[in-house]
Amino acid sequence: MIINIAIDGPAGAGKSTIAKRIARQLSFIYVDTGAMYRAMAYYFIRKDIKPEETERIEEACGQADISIAYENGEQQVLLNGENVTPYLRTEEVGNMASASSVNPKVREKLVSLQQKLAASKSVVMDGRDIGTKVLPNARVKIYLTASTHTRAQRRYEELCAKGETCDLEQIEKDIAERDYRDMHREISPLAQAEDAVLVDSSHMNIEEVVERIIEIYECNSR
Ligand code: C5P
Repeated sequence: MIINIAIDGPAGAGKSTIAKRIARQLSFIYVDTGAMYRAMAYYFIRKDIKPEETERIEEACGQADISIAYENGEQQVLLNGENVTPYLRTEEVGNMASASSVNPKVREKLVSLQQKLAASKSVVMDGRDIGTKVLPNARVKIYLTASTHTRAQRRYEELCAKGETCDLEQIEKDIAERDYRDMHREISPLAQAEDAVLVDSSHMNIEEVVERIIEIYECNSR
């Protein structure tokens, strides 16, 4: 039987770390939908397209073939056959993804790919619109959040650990802007689905969040 778990929430709430662990524990496939929007954004950046150039985004979107594969259990995103995964987790790509994901053509293309994946395998899928739009019938829906400050702090530590120079204040500002855009866009804004369970991880560690979500999953499976 195919079972889907949807995890939505704002940037930096820890969705990918948590979703990955849950998928491993339940032997489900982890699908990071943000990486798909990022791969599309990376394509636009490479083509020197600006976020406000709607027509060019729509045209380029038709030329970008996004697919995913797994290497040692890790999701890899292929853009026109090229593995672009190493280039996706920068602030530049994240900001472009947030700006270009408001485009209906971009969303239509990626939502359809996500729905196909979830129809063929049990998945833990994370994103912004998974519980509300992509998988409205998911067995478990979680809305994972944390305060803006906590999320900025986590992103800052992640970037510092990678040796990147970064500015906490700027990161907090970018996160707040991205939240605003994601929550106020016209199509599929970030929102807690009516039947989603809210998990606020501001004062929880990774293990506690994983445990809480597994508990919710088990309750829903009885
Ligand atoms: O989660 P991540 O930071 O990788 O996502 C990058 C951007 O992609 C988000 O800011 C959001 O605008 C967009 N996104 C989306 N819908 C999803 C996943 C990501 O609009 N399901």
